[in-house]
Amino acid sequence: MHVAVEDGNAVVDDARIEACVREANAALARYGVSVWVRAVVELRDTTTIETPDQRLALAKVARRDGSVHVFFVDRVELATARNGDQRVSGMHWRYHGLSPRVRAREYVAVAHNAPRTTLAHEIGHTFGLGHDEDVDNLMCSCKRGESPSFSARQGRRLRSGARRFLDRARPRAQPRRVERVRFSRAERIELVRQVRAPSRAERAPRTSR
Ligand SMILES: [Zn+2]
Repeated sequence: MHVAVEDGNAVVDDARIEACVREANAALARYGVSVWVRAVVELRDTTTIETPDQRLALAKVARRDGSVHVFFVDRVELATARNGDQRVSGMHWRYHGLSPRVRAREYVAVAHNAPRTTLAHEIGHTFGLGHDEDVDNLMCSCKRGESPSFSARQGRRLRSGARRFLDRARPRAQPRRVERVRFSRAERIELVRQVRAPSRAERAPRTSR
């Protein structure tokens, strides 16, 4: 979490950050994805994001380290509706240029007064989701309904998207070492039980309102 500071005051306090993260996890949990705050750091010299230069400058801070870099700022101003969420005051940004220093970097920006669901929405983009028309869906770029959620289809995408996100942060040169572990028959059965598909009840979409 990168928090802008204006006149000596952080634009959001810890309680606000926590509320946004809790909101995101409430929607992500049923699909086996969760996010947590790794660190909260002060964002210097930036309180609004409106120009291409400002957007690029933030990419220099957003290292590809497996963290979703979130910038809480005073204001997020977007030139086009295409690459941002004007009405929900947030954006997901990814660098598509060729500069090796910031290649493929991405981050999320959230305005200090954005709805609490905005972070969940932008994390949705980060993990590969596009927009949805349904006002009860978290990926609607409209003013969302009372308790918007992700659909089961989006949930599956989120999960694989989150995995790809982590894979992108992994250094290419080091292939993952495969560890061989021997399990007893009882342990194997227990493992299978743990990774079994969710039951019908767990899969059933939550009805909102
Ligand atoms: Zn959006």
